[in-house]
Amino acid sequence: MATQSRGHATQLLRLYEMRVGIGHDTHRLVEGRPLILGGVTIEHPRGLAGHSDADVVLHALTDALLGAAGLGDIGDLYPDTDPRHKDADSAVFVRETLQRLQKDAWRVVNVDVIIFAQQPKLGPVKTTIRRHLAELLDLPADAVNVKAKTGEHVGSIGRGEAIACQVIVLIDH
Ligand SMILES: [Zn+2]
Repeated sequence: MATQSRGHATQLLRLYEMRVGIGHDTHRLVEGRPLILGGVTIEHPRGLAGHSDADVVLHALTDALLGAAGLGDIGDLYPDTDPRHKDADSAVFVRETLQRLQKDAWRVVNVDVIIFAQQPKLGPVKTTIRRHLAELLDLPADAVNVKAKTGEHVGSIGRGEAIACQVIVLIDH
């Protein structure tokens, strides 16, 4: 009997699987572009340079999701030479990636995000970004966490030349 239930437990463990994924992205800050972080437009004299809307948070999130599911990276799937993605809303990359995950029955469990920016101060917009990401991922707000760090005035982040983002995600099925 004991052997039988152990066998059953092993079978359940095989059916239930968890994966983690990590994503990282950096974009340069330039004049004449809107600053969009996690789908939220933020009042700032400069914005991020890139082929799409250059949303560093949604790019890192897309890469984390693709990584967790073993589906490659954002550069493979959405090359910045593709005219279709010129100034594209990066939420499209996240939505299409979620559809790819759903095809394999993957579900997002939680997401943890760190945004690295010397300027602007992200404290006041962290909650808005968090709420927006939770909505995009169809997750409760407590399953999405957004942290903000400065660059301590050193390196490209600290000199205000760039904004970077790291995302880690857990998926299961
Ligand atoms: Zn990017």
